[in-house]
Amino acid sequence: MNRRYYAVILAGGQGLRMGYDIPKQFIEIEGKPILRHTIERFRESFDEIEIIVVLPSGEKEYWKEYCKRTGFLDRYVMPSGGITRFHSVQNALKYVPDGAIVAIHDGVRPFVTRDFLRSMFKKMEECKALVPVTLPVESLREIGPDGTSTAVDRSRYRLVQTPQIFHSELLKEAYSQPYNPLFTDDASVVEYMGHRVSLCEGLSSNIKITTPEDLALAEAILRETRR
Ligand code: C5P
Repeated sequence: MNRRYYAVILAGGQGLRMGYDIPKQFIEIEGKPILRHTIERFRESFDEIEIIVVLPSGEKEYWKEYCKRTGFLDRYVMPSGGITRFHSVQNALKYVPDGAIVAIHDGVRPFVTRDFLRSMFKKMEECKALVPVTLPVESLREIGPDGTSTAVDRSRYRLVQTPQIFHSELLKEAYSQPYNPLFTDDASVVEYMGHRVSLCEGLSSNIKITTPEDLALAEAILRETRR
């Protein structure tokens, strides 16, 4: 079956950890909002891909006005963000049919590359759920219920990135489950339903911009990739 490609770009959060008066997805790096960089990465990677951009309902006018003012006239549906990331994905999946391949990606990860996206979608010929991971470089400790900590073997752990890519009927079934606070990403939702996810090697530059320090790093990565 030839599956159509969909990308859900999540920008439905307020990004308050950043300390700016606009959500972090709208902060500009190298002259463009982070969210625009992310949308452009998907658009330039595939001839045909349906894009869905989840935004907080109170920020849609701001984004539409920015797009009009700067001539960034891409076409996509724009569902509203929910109370958690889980609810935002649920809102977006209403626009994704069964029989497709759907990538869920954080709008604040603008450094995903064309080669990386294409290779992940290609791998979907052999699996139904694919998640990029990296090895932790720092030492890890586990905090017990009494507050004491124990060193753990970091070779047994992986850090999880997005995009996370799925057969759409599998992901939609997973997202029909009731919300559980343990759901921090899409893979955890799919696994909770009893399905296995496949892992692939992530991209170290595919950082999630979360804090003001990440912003400085983001500017440096962008300058480097433009050389
Ligand atoms: O808050 P966190 O950094 O984990 O958010 C990851 C991504 O999920 C961000 O792109 C954010 O905009 C999105 N998100 C969302 N709806 C929420 C919370 C977060 O779309 N309610």
